[in-house]
Amino acid sequence: MRPEPNAADRPSPGLAVTRVPAFEDNYLWLIHGEAAAATQVVAVDPGDPAAIEAVLDANHLTLAAILVTHHHGDHTGGVEALATHHGVPVYGPAREDIPGRTIAVKGGDVVDLPSLGLHFRVLDVPGHTAGHVAYAGHGAVFCGDTLFSGGCGRLFEGTPEQMLGSLDTLAALPKDTQVYCAHEYTASNLKFALAVEPSNAELVSYAWEVARRREKLEPTIPTTIGRERAINPFLRTREATIREAAAEFSGRPAANDADAFRQVREWKNGFRG
Ligand code: ZN
Ligand code: FE
Repeated sequence: MRPEPNAADRPSPGLAVTRVPAFEDNYLWLIHGEAAAATQVVAVDPGDPAAIEAVLDANHLTLAAILVTHHHGDHTGGVEALATHHGVPVYGPAREDIPGRTIAVKGGDVVDLPSLGLHFRVLDVPGHTAGHVAYAGHGAVFCGDTLFSGGCGRLFEGTPEQMLGSLDTLAALPKDTQVYCAHEYTASNLKFALAVEPSNAELVSYAWEVARRREKLEPTIPTTIGRERAINPFLRTREATIREAAAEFSGRPAANDADAFRQVREWKNGFRG
């Protein structure tokens, strides 16, 4: 049986996005303006300025704005150089120190770029860092290091309660929302997911598809909210099968939803596939 083609094969509805690989496994994203503004782009988490400049030059693109999800260097390393060189605004989380930020945003705000025909809702998604935000709009979400395909960010600054709430916020987006996360971690995430939930048929088939793609060094991002709800253990910690597996690993049943989430996160922290 052939598995479903990966969502990345299909164009994302209403939004053109260029992938800029950087470092070991980061994806920096360039969001194109609509129609007449298609050569103007918004850079998301431009950690590597040279990688962005090379793609702008090669494709005759103009940088119009920068969006930042959180303060880590692999997401912010190019912000000041790019903002200065191109004279563009920098949107970033109000609750974090983002060098070069010109517009502080928080959950409920809207990033309005009318000359590009682009509008994004800001979502508060703390957990990986204390002030992490995501940008949602046009059938897509740019979620930094909060949600990955098959996994989620490590809790460097937040609590399990916060991260579970943030993942619930993302999971509540429409199923066909294209998820542009910041790292290609899918294959290793799925080793853990399969250890937690070996009988999940959709997960098994997706793992097969991801292995095939990665053999050819093809990306697995964007994913979709619908797929992640079906296969990502961190969006599924309320499922009985996952609760049982996590309780067995921890040696005790979870006290509540956040505790179950914590058990799965701690299990993965020590997991060597
Ligand atoms: Zn990070
Ligand atoms: Fe990162």
